[in-house]
Amino acid sequence: MVKNPKSASRPKRDQATMRVARMHKVGEPLSIDRVPRPEPRPTDILLQVKACGIVPNLGNVLNNIGKWFPHLSLPKLPAIFGLDAAGVVAEIGSQVHGIKIGDRVYINPARYCGGCHACRTGDTTACRYYAFNGYFGFSPDSQKMFEDYPYGGLGEYMTAPQYSVVTLPDAVSFETAARWGYLGTGYSALKRSGANMSTSVLINGISGTLGIGVALFALAMGCPTIMGTGRDTRLLKKVKAIAPDRIHVRSLEARGSLADWAKSLTGGEGPHIVIDALGPGAPQSSMLAAFAAVRRGGRLVDIGAVGGAVPIDLHKLMDNNQRIIGSAWFTTAEGQEMADMAATGAVDLDVFEHEVFKLKDVNKALAIFKNRNGGFSNYVICP
Ligand SMILES: [Zn+2]
Repeated sequence: MVKNPKSASRPKRDQATMRVARMHKVGEPLSIDRVPRPEPRPTDILLQVKACGIVPNLGNVLNNIGKWFPHLSLPKLPAIFGLDAAGVVAEIGSQVHGIKIGDRVYINPARYCGGCHACRTGDTTACRYYAFNGYFGFSPDSQKMFEDYPYGGLGEYMTAPQYSVVTLPDAVSFETAARWGYLGTGYSALKRSGANMSTSVLINGISGTLGIGVALFALAMGCPTIMGTGRDTRLLKKVKAIAPDRIHVRSLEARGSLADWAKSLTGGEGPHIVIDALGPGAPQSSMLAAFAAVRRGGRLVDIGAVGGAVPIDLHKLMDNNQRIIGSAWFTTAEGQEMADMAATGAVDLDVFEHEVFKLKDVNKALAIFKNRNGGFSNYVICP
């Protein structure tokens, strides 16, 4: 029993309910249900959700996740999904310090236990219970996290641990903050690959939901040459227009070798970093073509989930001192760094075009299969 949560104003406990979108059965539309409004546990906050990000096709992913990604686990049904929530802190638990009621925040959905060996030694992303609140878990053990945090962002309120809170500057709207997960995935990959003002970057899939975020943070981190591939030439032009002097784009269908093109822009050596942001199902040949461009000592990071057994000559990789890195998601610390960069204007996140839906229209939003404007489109549920 939680004692004494601090609250701005709350109706009598037994009258407090909230609307949520819940999945009762895989393959059926989400249903808008009224459920009790939760109370934060001592180290949790209660968020009043103002915006929750969705990716078009999320409905399709949810309906097929068991078939497509059998190594991942889903929360028990009925479940409230919703990955990237932003809003206002409505209540705080009795042991929450440093976060105030009324704070504007983003909630990193990454849940970890805090007690396993990985967590206690500081690598919380390697937690054996690791799960995305409101989405899926990475092992059967992840069910524990869903039991602790059963509320996703597709509702009016949700509880979240204080360790997941990113405070937002006024410069970041809730709609933009609902994009933090995909932006953070790109930012974390850039950090892991050592991106800085001396490194060139090639982004495979630069005009997509992940790719644009990588480009924006590569600009903010000072990368002098940012190259990108994509399918849609109209969108590629739009990406180039963000920073015409530093961004170079190329159609995936262009004739000739991608490696030759990238080398021609990097003094003949090729990029220091390739970030593959193409989605699951993208041909492995695209990744291999990009990897062929990587310079000696360079690295390739997969963030888009290109899958399967990719034929790579590991001896050559070793001789060239190269690395291939898998990078999933980002930490709350990185999320806070991004917010602090947005506060000073170091990163400019004004390129997104928000497509806002009400919670009651969530199924309509989930039925959209294509981004109208590639990664520029930002689909958000505002309850
Ligand atoms: Zn753990």
